[in-house]
Amino acid sequence: MYQLPKSQIRKTGRQNNNANSPQYPTAFSMICPHCSELTTFTSSAPTNTSARAFAGMATCPACSGVVSVFTMHTPKDSSVVFVYPSPAARTSISDEAITDIAAVDRAYHSAVKAYNVGLWDACLTSCRKTLEGIVKTQGNSTGKTLFQQLRDFFSSQDLAEPLVHLTDTIREGGNLGAHFDMDREPDQDLARMMLDLIDFFLEYIYLLPKQSQALEARLKSLDAEDEIAG
Ligand SMILES: [Zn+2]
Repeated sequence: MYQLPKSQIRKTGRQNNNANSPQYPTAFSMICPHCSELTTFTSSAPTNTSARAFAGMATCPACSGVVSVFTMHTPKDSSVVFVYPSPAARTSISDEAITDIAAVDRAYHSAVKAYNVGLWDACLTSCRKTLEGIVKTQGNSTGKTLFQQLRDFFSSQDLAEPLVHLTDTIREGGNLGAHFDMDREPDQDLARMMLDLIDFFLEYIYLLPKQSQALEARLKSLDAEDEIAG
Protein backbone atom coordinates (compact mmCIF):
# COMPACT_ATOMS: atom_id res chain seq x y z
CA MET A 1 0.00 0.00 0.00
CA TYR A 2 1.37 3.37 -1.05
CA GLN A 3 0.29 6.76 0.23
CA LEU A 4 -0.09 8.98 -2.81
CA PRO A 5 1.54 12.38 -2.20
CA LYS A 6 -0.76 15.34 -2.92
CA SER A 7 1.76 16.58 -5.51
CA GLN A 8 1.00 13.53 -7.70
CA ILE A 9 -2.76 14.16 -7.76
CA ARG A 10 -3.66 15.90 -11.01
CA LYS A 11 -7.45 16.16 -10.79
CA THR A 12 -10.09 15.53 -8.17
CA GLY A 13 -13.81 14.96 -8.27
CA ARG A 14 -16.75 14.80 -5.89
CA GLN A 15 -19.52 12.27 -5.77
CA ASN A 16 -22.45 13.36 -7.96
CA ASN A 17 -20.63 16.70 -8.23
CA ASN A 18 -21.98 17.44 -4.78
CA ALA A 19 -19.90 20.20 -3.19
CA ASN A 20 -20.51 18.70 0.25
CA SER A 21 -19.22 15.29 -0.75
CA PRO A 22 -15.55 14.51 0.01
CA GLN A 23 -13.03 14.71 -2.82
CA TYR A 24 -11.40 11.73 -4.50
CA PRO A 25 -8.64 11.73 -7.16
CA THR A 26 -9.80 11.30 -10.76
CA ALA A 27 -6.30 11.54 -12.25
CA PHE A 28 -2.90 11.07 -10.68
CA SER A 29 0.63 10.49 -11.95
CA MET A 30 2.56 7.48 -10.71
CA ILE A 31 5.12 4.92 -11.86
CA CYS A 32 2.90 1.98 -12.85
CA PRO A 33 3.42 -1.12 -10.64
CA HIS A 34 2.64 -3.33 -13.68
CA CYS A 35 4.71 -1.80 -16.52
CA SER A 36 7.02 0.65 -14.64
CA GLU A 37 6.00 3.51 -16.95
CA LEU A 38 5.58 6.96 -15.39
CA THR A 39 2.07 7.77 -16.46
CA THR A 40 -1.21 9.45 -15.53
CA PHE A 41 -3.75 7.02 -14.11
CA THR A 42 -7.40 7.89 -14.53
CA SER A 43 -9.93 6.68 -12.04
CA SER A 44 -13.67 6.45 -12.36
CA ALA A 45 -16.05 7.32 -9.53
CA PRO A 46 -15.51 5.16 -6.43
CA THR A 47 -17.68 2.05 -6.41
CA ASN A 48 -17.60 1.58 -2.67
CA THR A 49 -18.38 4.61 -0.57
CA SER A 50 -18.96 5.31 3.07
CA ALA A 51 -18.81 8.41 5.23
CA ARG A 52 -15.19 7.63 6.09
CA ALA A 53 -13.66 6.17 2.95
CA PHE A 54 -14.07 5.61 -0.77
CA ALA A 55 -12.70 2.65 -2.68
CA GLY A 56 -12.33 2.51 -6.44
CA MET A 57 -10.05 1.56 -9.32
CA ALA A 58 -7.68 3.41 -11.61
CA THR A 59 -6.21 2.28 -14.91
CA CYS A 60 -2.76 2.71 -16.46
CA PRO A 61 -3.12 4.15 -19.99
CA ALA A 62 0.11 2.41 -21.05
CA CYS A 63 -0.62 -1.20 -20.09
CA SER A 64 -4.29 -1.09 -18.93
CA GLY A 65 -3.11 -2.45 -15.57
CA VAL A 66 -5.50 -1.71 -12.73
CA VAL A 67 -4.73 -0.41 -9.24
CA SER A 68 -7.08 -0.03 -6.28
CA VAL A 69 -7.48 3.46 -4.88
CA PHE A 70 -8.60 4.08 -1.32
CA THR A 71 -9.49 7.59 -0.24
CA MET A 72 -9.75 8.10 3.51
CA HIS A 73 -11.58 11.23 4.52
CA THR A 74 -10.12 13.48 7.12
CA PRO A 75 -11.70 16.57 8.66
CA LYS A 76 -11.52 19.95 6.92
CA ASP A 77 -12.30 18.60 3.46
CA SER A 78 -8.92 16.96 3.06
CA SER A 79 -8.28 13.31 2.36
CA VAL A 80 -5.49 10.78 2.34
CA VAL A 81 -5.16 8.56 -0.72
CA PHE A 82 -3.64 5.08 -0.77
CA VAL A 83 -2.89 2.99 -3.84
CA TYR A 84 -2.42 -0.77 -4.12
CA PRO A 85 -0.18 -2.28 -5.40
CA SER A 86 2.57 0.24 -4.68
CA PRO A 87 4.25 1.96 -7.64
CA ALA A 88 7.42 0.46 -9.06
CA ALA A 89 9.28 3.39 -7.54
CA ARG A 90 12.96 3.48 -6.78
CA THR A 91 13.92 3.47 -3.11
CA SER A 92 17.19 4.76 -1.65
CA ILE A 93 19.72 2.14 -0.53
CA SER A 94 19.18 3.37 3.02
CA ASP A 95 16.62 5.52 4.83
CA GLU A 96 19.33 6.70 7.16
CA ALA A 97 22.21 8.98 6.20
CA ILE A 98 24.59 6.99 3.97
CA THR A 99 27.56 9.21 4.68
CA ASP A 100 28.15 12.05 7.12
CA ILE A 101 28.91 14.27 4.13
CA ALA A 102 25.50 15.92 3.78
CA ALA A 103 26.09 17.17 0.22
CA VAL A 104 26.79 13.64 -1.06
CA ASP A 105 23.66 12.30 0.64
CA ARG A 106 21.59 15.15 -0.73
CA ALA A 107 22.82 14.62 -4.30
CA TYR A 108 22.05 10.89 -4.10
CA HIS A 109 18.54 11.34 -2.65
CA SER A 110 17.86 14.02 -5.29
CA ALA A 111 18.76 11.47 -7.98
CA VAL A 112 16.27 8.94 -6.54
CA LYS A 113 13.55 11.58 -6.16
CA ALA A 114 14.10 12.89 -9.69
CA TYR A 115 13.82 9.32 -11.04
CA ASN A 116 10.54 8.73 -9.23
CA VAL A 117 8.92 11.80 -10.72
CA GLY A 118 10.30 11.20 -14.21
CA LEU A 119 12.87 14.01 -14.32
CA TRP A 120 15.47 11.98 -16.21
CA ASP A 121 17.85 14.89 -16.94
CA ALA A 122 17.87 15.85 -13.26
CA CYS A 123 18.42 12.20 -12.27
CA LEU A 124 21.47 11.85 -14.54
CA THR A 125 22.91 15.16 -13.32
CA SER A 126 22.42 14.22 -9.67
CA CYS A 127 24.10 10.82 -10.23
CA ARG A 128 27.14 12.60 -11.67
CA LYS A 129 27.01 15.10 -8.80
CA THR A 130 26.97 12.21 -6.29
CA LEU A 131 30.02 10.68 -7.95
CA GLU A 132 31.76 14.05 -7.99
CA GLY A 133 30.90 14.55 -4.30
CA ILE A 134 32.35 11.16 -3.36
CA VAL A 135 35.69 11.68 -5.10
CA LYS A 136 35.96 15.39 -4.25
CA THR A 137 35.69 14.78 -0.50
CA GLN A 138 38.36 12.07 -0.64
CA GLY A 139 41.29 14.11 -1.90
CA ASN A 140 42.66 17.35 -3.25
CA SER A 141 40.40 18.35 -6.10
CA THR A 142 41.39 21.98 -6.66
CA GLY A 143 41.50 22.87 -10.34
CA LYS A 144 41.07 19.28 -11.50
CA THR A 145 38.49 17.84 -13.86
CA LEU A 146 36.26 15.01 -12.64
CA PHE A 147 38.20 12.67 -14.93
CA GLN A 148 41.49 13.62 -13.24
CA GLN A 149 39.91 13.44 -9.79
CA LEU A 150 38.71 9.89 -10.52
CA ARG A 151 42.21 8.82 -11.64
CA ASP A 152 43.67 10.33 -8.42
CA PHE A 153 40.97 8.66 -6.34
CA PHE A 154 41.86 5.18 -7.59
CA SER A 155 45.60 5.67 -7.26
CA SER A 156 45.45 7.09 -3.72
CA GLN A 157 42.79 4.89 -2.08
CA ASP A 158 43.07 1.25 -1.18
CA LEU A 159 39.66 0.31 -2.50
CA ALA A 160 40.28 -3.39 -2.04
CA GLU A 161 40.57 -2.96 1.73
CA PRO A 162 36.81 -2.89 2.50
CA LEU A 163 36.37 -6.00 0.33
CA VAL A 164 39.19 -7.86 2.07
CA HIS A 165 37.55 -7.03 5.39
CA LEU A 166 34.12 -8.06 4.09
CA THR A 167 35.25 -11.46 2.83
CA ASP A 168 37.26 -12.14 6.00
CA THR A 169 34.18 -11.38 8.06
CA ILE A 170 31.97 -13.69 6.00
CA ARG A 171 34.57 -16.45 6.39
CA GLU A 172 34.70 -15.96 10.17
CA GLY A 173 30.92 -15.83 10.41
CA GLY A 174 30.69 -19.10 8.48
CA ASN A 175 32.98 -20.76 11.01
CA LEU A 176 30.51 -19.89 13.76
CA GLY A 177 27.75 -21.75 11.91
CA ALA A 178 29.90 -24.76 11.04
CA HIS A 179 31.45 -25.56 14.42
CA PHE A 180 29.86 -26.52 17.71
CA ASP A 181 30.09 -23.69 20.20
CA MET A 182 28.18 -23.73 23.51
CA ASP A 183 28.51 -20.00 24.08
CA ARG A 184 28.04 -18.49 20.67
CA GLU A 185 24.68 -19.24 19.11
CA PRO A 186 23.93 -17.89 15.58
CA ASP A 187 20.63 -16.01 15.36
CA GLN A 188 18.45 -14.36 12.71
CA ASP A 189 20.19 -11.03 13.04
CA LEU A 190 23.56 -12.58 12.35
CA ALA A 191 22.21 -14.62 9.41
CA ARG A 192 20.63 -11.49 7.90
CA MET A 193 23.88 -9.51 8.21
CA MET A 194 25.85 -12.35 6.60
CA LEU A 195 23.33 -12.63 3.76
CA ASP A 196 23.43 -8.84 3.19
CA LEU A 197 27.20 -8.95 2.83
CA ILE A 198 27.24 -12.01 0.56
CA ASP A 199 24.55 -10.29 -1.58
CA PHE A 200 26.80 -7.27 -1.87
CA PHE A 201 29.85 -9.37 -2.79
CA LEU A 202 27.91 -11.35 -5.43
CA GLU A 203 26.64 -8.10 -6.90
CA TYR A 204 30.11 -6.58 -6.90
CA ILE A 205 31.84 -9.56 -8.54
CA TYR A 206 29.19 -10.76 -11.02
CA LEU A 207 26.48 -8.16 -11.57
CA LEU A 208 28.31 -4.85 -11.36
CA PRO A 209 30.59 -5.48 -14.41
CA LYS A 210 27.56 -6.54 -16.50
CA GLN A 211 25.60 -3.46 -15.44
CA SER A 212 28.36 -1.01 -16.28
CA GLN A 213 28.93 -2.72 -19.66
CA ALA A 214 25.19 -2.43 -20.36
CA LEU A 215 25.29 1.30 -19.54
CA GLU A 216 28.34 1.78 -21.75
CA ALA A 217 26.62 -0.03 -24.64
CA ARG A 218 23.49 2.10 -24.19
CA LEU A 219 25.52 5.33 -24.20
CA LYS A 220 27.39 4.18 -27.34
CA SER A 221 24.11 3.37 -29.09
CA LEU A 222 22.87 6.88 -28.29
CA ASP A 223 26.09 8.28 -29.83
CA ALA A 224 25.49 6.18 -32.96
CA GLU A 225 21.88 7.42 -33.18
CA ASP A 226 23.19 10.99 -32.94
CA GLU A 227 25.61 10.38 -35.80
CA ILE A 228 22.84 8.96 -38.00
CA ALA A 229 20.53 11.85 -37.11
CA GLY A 230 23.31 14.39 -37.63
ZN1 LIG B 1 1.19 0.23 -16.71
